[in-house]
Amino acid sequence: MFKKGTKLYSILNNKCPRCNQGDFYVEKNIWSFKNLLKLHDNCSTCDLKYMMEPSFFFGAMFINYALSVAIGIATFIVTYVLFKFTINQSFVSIILALILCTPMSLRLARLIWIHIFVSYDKKYDKK
Ligand SMILES: [Zn+2]
Repeated sequence: MFKKGTKLYSILNNKCPRCNQGDFYVEKNIWSFKNLLKLHDNCSTCDLKYMMEPSFFFGAMFINYALSVAIGIATFIVTYVLFKFTINQSFVSIILALILCTPMSLRLARLIWIHIFVSYDKKYDKK
């Protein structure tokens, strides 16, 4: 869907931001809570160190907050405006949507965060 070498391709496919080859997370299944946020130490292809400095992914918390707000607003629009739910029903729907989307948004937040600092570099792409 998205071309290799773009940030969206890499983020949506759980790939290294520099080479778009190696996997970022150890576990591909987002419903495996045991290893939900476990990263590889380095990229298997280009050897990029994912945890660049201690607490590098602290800033991903802000990305996760923004994603959660976006999910909440989208859920409200769908339930209240489109499906004509009451405010209370919409509120419960938002809470359920946020709980269900938490594994996805936590992982996406870290991927988006590292993509802010590391760009795709063709010389590391070995295919
Ligand atoms: Zn890489």
